[in-house]
Amino acid sequence: MSQVKAEAARRRTFAVISHPDAGKSTITEALALHAQVIGEAGAVHGKGGRKGVVSDWMAMEQQRGISITSAVLQFSYRDSVVNLLDTPGHADFSEDTYRVLTAVDCAVMLLDAAKGLEPQTLKLFEVCRHRRIPVVTFINKWDRPGMEALELMDEIESRIDIKPTPLTWPVGIAGDMHGVIDRRDGSMIHFERAPGGARAATEELVDAEEAKARYGEDYTQALEEIELLEASDATHDQKLFLNAVTTPVLFGAAVANIGVRQLLDVLIDHAPAPEPRPDTSGNPRPVEAPFSGFVFKIQANMNPAHRDQVAFVRVCSGRFERGMVVTHEPSGRPFTTKYAQSMFGSARDTIDEAFPGDVIGLVNATNLGMGDSLFVDKKVEFPALPSYAPEHFAQVRCDDTSKAKRFRRGIAQLDAEGVVQVLYSDARGDAAPVLAAVGPMQFEVASARLSGEFNVPVSVDNLPYSLARRTDAPGAQALRTAPGVEVFTRARDGAILAAFPNKWRLQTVKGNDPNLKLDPLLAEV
Ligand code: GDP
Repeated sequence: MSQVKAEAARRRTFAVISHPDAGKSTITEALALHAQVIGEAGAVHGKGGRKGVVSDWMAMEQQRGISITSAVLQFSYRDSVVNLLDTPGHADFSEDTYRVLTAVDCAVMLLDAAKGLEPQTLKLFEVCRHRRIPVVTFINKWDRPGMEALELMDEIESRIDIKPTPLTWPVGIAGDMHGVIDRRDGSMIHFERAPGGARAATEELVDAEEAKARYGEDYTQALEEIELLEASDATHDQKLFLNAVTTPVLFGAAVANIGVRQLLDVLIDHAPAPEPRPDTSGNPRPVEAPFSGFVFKIQANMNPAHRDQVAFVRVCSGRFERGMVVTHEPSGRPFTTKYAQSMFGSARDTIDEAFPGDVIGLVNATNLGMGDSLFVDKKVEFPALPSYAPEHFAQVRCDDTSKAKRFRRGIAQLDAEGVVQVLYSDARGDAAPVLAAVGPMQFEVASARLSGEFNVPVSVDNLPYSLARRTDAPGAQALRTAPGVEVFTRARDGAILAAFPNKWRLQTVKGNDPNLKLDPLLAEV
């Protein structure tokens, strides 16, 4: 096996996703505790005074105590290299989360044992299923009272199109956990919480007889429930898991580091290693082919002292070496990678080499756009990143006419980074672009960035639209006179979008003219 193939095979690249407060930051810390963090930049940094793994470099993040931008944590575990991509916790930035999901091979979905499925959980499961991203589900907070395990499985099964197939099963109800039974070999693992939870919980293997003696009814009930799972075919099937038809489930408590080692082991044993990534015509590029990758995130001015722009690139094939000259697919121009770095929050480390599955941060990458492919030797173009259906619209105007040029540059920058989608309409003109976003907080970021970084004072006016549909030229013509509807051209790709105040208005318009082309943007999710 070639070195590149072997390096790719031992990589696991994933993101933890969840509804806010399910414990994403906590489990990231807990995972890091089991692992050997690679590179100095992997040191764990604080969030709001407590120990935490967050990217806390934006002033707004600090003020609000939320994590807006994504960073990468790389660590070694067993013989593997694990890349954990951070995703923003707040639902307003889910577009960023969706893009991170294009760069991972697997996702870990965290559920709060007391809350079960929450709105963001449902959306994220849907994105994973649609994009065929394998999901491992971790039922968190089992140290606190919550729902019954079977009830949680029923909820997942009935509300999501992915069947839960538990790999471990809890002995003891939520809030009174003795341990878990590993369904793969029937062994029972008892957890003893470390004082303060600062260390991983100690684990003890308990044989069946001893478990029965110690945990009595709780143990026999767990065995009965496992029989029920078997009877309903809720058993792990590797192929179905890889196709996002089923999701293996684990139980634990991130705060006490219970069940976290099992999660890491499942990721190493069952989650897929980087695979050949198909190009725009569907031809997969082998992992051992010369270097290739694509930009899944762009961030400007990460460090105010540097005033630079970083493009995050997921390596898809080949060995990346710092300093190598790669070709930027859209422009055909060479790009020097002298300043390649591994990125973790505000900390940076020079990266010398990387393999498929890894993420590199390219500094001073002003010419790189979202979704752009990079390659060496044989040209490759990976599919464009999906763009997501905006639910909020606002017009933005430059308050100082002498800064019109800078304003345009700022808007183009935010568009390139994917902070917002930029739309233009004939009626409003070029001086008054409309920003479209998944969450309204994206407007706050845009406005803060325009005034803070580009020194352009702006006013932002919310518009009364809540959904958009893609249409064509005849559709645009017909809709121009429709009351309450506005037609826009999207700057990024020239797509014609019609914005509607609500779904009822959309339905009326459709009812009046069933031949109108009105394609949902969510189909891309
Ligand atoms: P995030 O918003 O998903 O990143 O969630 P955090 O990691 O910040 O956790 C939210 C809250 O849940 C915090 O108060 C955590 O201490 C708490 N928490 C996280 N995991 C657990 C757990 O396993 N058990 C309990 N009891 N609390 C937890």
